[in-house]
Amino acid sequence: MKIQFLGTGSAEGIPVIGCDCAHCIRAREEGGKLTKRRNSVLFSLPGYELLLDTPPDIRASLAQSKILRIDGIFLTHAHYDHTGGLEEFLYWKRDLDLFVEPGVYESLRREEWGDTLPDIAFHCPFHPGMAVRFDGFFFTPFAVNHPVPCFGLAIYENDHKTIYTSDTRNWFSHYAYSLMDGADLLIVNTPHFGPPHEDHITSLEAVELKERMGVNRLVLTHCNHHNLPHDELEEWAQGQDGVVIAYDGLEIEV
Ligand SMILES: [Zn+2]
Ligand SMILES: [Zn+2]
Ligand SMILES: [Zn+2]
Repeated sequence: MKIQFLGTGSAEGIPVIGCDCAHCIRAREEGGKLTKRRNSVLFSLPGYELLLDTPPDIRASLAQSKILRIDGIFLTHAHYDHTGGLEEFLYWKRDLDLFVEPGVYESLRREEWGDTLPDIAFHCPFHPGMAVRFDGFFFTPFAVNHPVPCFGLAIYENDHKTIYTSDTRNWFSHYAYSLMDGADLLIVNTPHFGPPHEDHITSLEAVELKERMGVNRLVLTHCNHHNLPHDELEEWAQGQDGVVIAYDGLEIEV
């Protein structure tokens, strides 16, 4: 399976609107991998292109990566940085499946434009812990710990297991740990570099999690301007075993 990281920044993106910190000033001046759009990932599965999250930057991200085919969207949670671009799909001219947990779907429908949601895509409700089976692969959503209901994803394809943890504290259910155990690839959202950050798992803690779970490869994404700039994060990752720092446009194979 091919995985494309379309946006790799956290809620504010980098550079942050109106921010004059050193990280954001460098991002504006140098551009490239220092700039990060909000979070989205495209999983190219057998016969099915699955887009994870529709941030406010999704239009630019899809244009940049020249993506013309999506079969389904998986929404992790209702926060703006993960769903703010959903309405863009009113202009998408092909059928789309929309995998959203029923409570999250209802909260999106309360938005002013929510009445148009059924026009955007076919709602396919999912329930955490229950596999969604396709011909040739399946995925199992699992609940994580975030201020709003939020779901990670375990994708099983061709004897490979990929875990996407979504926005979460560094505290998982035993169920989630059992899904992560021995995964081929773990993708973790880490806005900050190191603890203490009660609300989000950090980059350093994600490396500990990778080691504890016996995972081969770890990709860190959803980084913010308080984290190290991309080049410094990459330098740090070179001293780690199997750690990759995602940037907008990164493609990897599992
Ligand atoms: Zn987020
Ligand atoms: Zn900043
Ligand atoms: Zn969030």
